[in-house]
Amino acid sequence: MKLNVHQIEESAKQLTYEEPTEPLNARLVHGGVCDFEFPAKATVRVDYYRAGLELFFHGKIEGTVVGHCARCLEDYTFSLATNFDVVLIPKPDLREHVELTADELDLSYYSGDQVDLTPLVDEQIILALPTRPLCGENCKGLCPSCGANLNQATCNCTVSTGNPRLAVLRELKIGH
Ligand SMILES: [Zn+2]
Ligand SMILES: [Zn+2]
Repeated sequence: MKLNVHQIEESAKQLTYEEPTEPLNARLVHGGVCDFEFPAKATVRVDYYRAGLELFFHGKIEGTVVGHCARCLEDYTFSLATNFDVVLIPKPDLREHVELTADELDLSYYSGDQVDLTPLVDEQIILALPTRPLCGENCKGLCPSCGANLNQATCNCTVSTGNPRLAVLRELKIGH
């Protein structure tokens, strides 16, 4: 979603739109592995205004995420909702040899007549995702011997949960 910089005024305006998630889904694939994906568009509601040349965006992103559980390998669905606050400043002209302070280096920039909200929104979504996909904190994972999904069935393998050496082996198998 692109906004014309000249149409961002000091009085706040509100925009609600659906952000396509195909580019985001592509970013969420790492080495052929995909922990999370968005089956549908994300809804973005954003208030935006300016103070001089600084552009302010406050908003909320909501979407439905499909996670691929790292333990049992099943897909699970959850809702994601995250608030964001972003300030954009004009990109400094580096030809002027302006010394940037550490604070300024942390800021996000815009240049030209348009602000593209899509990369900002995608970044906020990625920050809001859990570090590891788990269908539930208590997911029992797969039996290391027969591969049964232990959330859905008990198998007949004689893996004692009380044996710490076996527990370590189980973690090794499931951990990656
Ligand atoms: Zn699971
Ligand atoms: Zn088993």
